[in-house]
Amino acid sequence: MMQEETFDVIVIGAGLGGLLSAAQFLERGQRVAVVERLGHVGGRFTAKTFGGAQVSTGAVHMLPFGSNGVLAAMLRDLAVPHHVFDAEVFGSFYLRGRQIPVRSMLSMARVLGPREFGCLMRLGAAMFLRHPRPEERSLSFRAWLVHQGVTRATYPTIVAFFERVSHFTLSVDLDQVSYPEVCETTKNMFRYGPPGIVAGGCAAVARALEARIRAAGGTLLLHHDVPQVLTEAGTAVGVRLVNRATGEMRAIHAPLIVSDIGGAATNRLIADAANADQSEPPSQGATGLKTHVLSKRSLIPHRGIMYCLDTTRIAGIVQPTNSDPGLAPPGEHLIISHQLWRPDRETIAEARAHALADLTRILGPQTANGWHVLTMSQYHDAWPVNRAVQGHDDAPTTPVPGLYLVGDAVKPSGYLMVEGVAQSVNVVLDLVERNGSHVAPKPSRRRALTWLVAPPAPQRQPPPPAVAEGAPLQPAPRKRDVAQKTAHLTPAATGEEIAPERID
Ligand SMILES: Cc1cc2nc3c(=O)[nH]c(=O)nc-3n(C[C@H](O)[C@H](O)[C@H](O)COP(=O)(O)OP(=O)(O)OC[C@H]3O[C@@H](n4cnc5c(N)ncnc54)[C@H](O)[C@@H]3O)c2cc1C
Repeated sequence: MMQEETFDVIVIGAGLGGLLSAAQFLERGQRVAVVERLGHVGGRFTAKTFGGAQVSTGAVHMLPFGSNGVLAAMLRDLAVPHHVFDAEVFGSFYLRGRQIPVRSMLSMARVLGPREFGCLMRLGAAMFLRHPRPEERSLSFRAWLVHQGVTRATYPTIVAFFERVSHFTLSVDLDQVSYPEVCETTKNMFRYGPPGIVAGGCAAVARALEARIRAAGGTLLLHHDVPQVLTEAGTAVGVRLVNRATGEMRAIHAPLIVSDIGGAATNRLIADAANADQSEPPSQGATGLKTHVLSKRSLIPHRGIMYCLDTTRIAGIVQPTNSDPGLAPPGEHLIISHQLWRPDRETIAEARAHALADLTRILGPQTANGWHVLTMSQYHDAWPVNRAVQGHDDAPTTPVPGLYLVGDAVKPSGYLMVEGVAQSVNVVLDLVERNGSHVAPKPSRRRALTWLVAPPAPQRQPPPPAVAEGAPLQPAPRKRDVAQKTAHLTPAATGEEIAPERID
């Protein structure tokens, strides 16, 4: 075997989880190879330039806990240049044709009115001040609300509030997520801090991590598929690779394999390993529909999320150009809406029609009001919103010693989206290094009280790097990769498929 075919660590998948893992092991002086089937890194946390805007492959350019979160802390530790523009509000709420900005929890009274606000405070006290009781532990969040006497008939705005926050932040319904998991996640959202838009969008983070990995001597094998994890006596020893351009197959070896592709897909790679446990049902992914809009007019007056309480489907909208104007062409605002889409309940055509109708209701007629839909994309199957529904995640260990999982199928309880991805990397570092020091203690509970009057303060950060000014993205991917990544991309307004070559 050639010298360069042996590494200390092989990472399968160059999504955010894979990139963070690679950077961490390189930091420890290990020889690392990252294998990615696409022609570029970032997975669902990068973007392409389309119509002059940063159209993301997944995330809406937002870190759930902003500059105070686990991902931002890991980027700081790794000295990866980035800048997060934290929201200065709790959010705003679109209801009965108007938008109500809410800076603190106390100002939620303006949205809910005194009776429903009193109920929200009672629910909040139960969620924050005591552990879930034994009889509450197996309840879905919706069932717990019903137990508390909160239904659409009794407290309609509160139900809409929880539904839309859950649809936007977790891409699940209230009956798909457990009461204890909502408690953990909500506590973390309050203890860490408000969400934030990352300068340059998610592509800037992916690009900075890629540069960090290359500078540290990591090997990035793009356009390479991993069809199999190799084992000896039941232990992981390497992976088989297929070069997607030439079809050439070869093997590379390492005693530690980190998979960023989720439990179900990883299981398929070890299907022939004698001790692979195939009895585990694959984790269910969270599914959704996201729409990118360019608008001459600003919709949202802040850097946070506008939750939509009485739209038909759209759960929330962000306007990331409020943080980084370089994410859209000059004079235009990038507006991104997200909604839960459950393929078992409605066709994609119905979901899109609802999205367009909701947007028209909020923004007015397209031509007259100067907005148009750039892309509308559904996320499911192998390219979901999350590979595992929050609280139903896979374990980071596998039946094969030496093979671990990171990514959004392995989010620890209470850590959503990319905060969960970063925390999954900390968990694997703890497992591998056996010193248990990477999963840092949470910020204090007292910090959450800040929200009664204002969001907690952002972290001290250096000024935004030059990427915020709209530096070019990494080299254009080859057509074949773009075709795969945009397989679900169609603009709603016309129903016309976006040809891959239209993405630059
Ligand atoms: C519509 C939408 C909105 C979202 N909004 C946000 C948000 O605003 N904030 C947030 O924090 N999160 C958000 N998320 C979630 C976030 O994007 C994901 O949690 C995160 O990007 C997942 O990263 P990952 O590394 O776990 O997986 P991925 O990004 O999926 O990376 C896995 C990589 O592995 C590669 N791969 C797969 N199989 C193989 C194989 N056999 N061989 C080689 N390579 C392989 C894939 O090509 C991919 O690049 C959103 C997601 C979606 C879809």
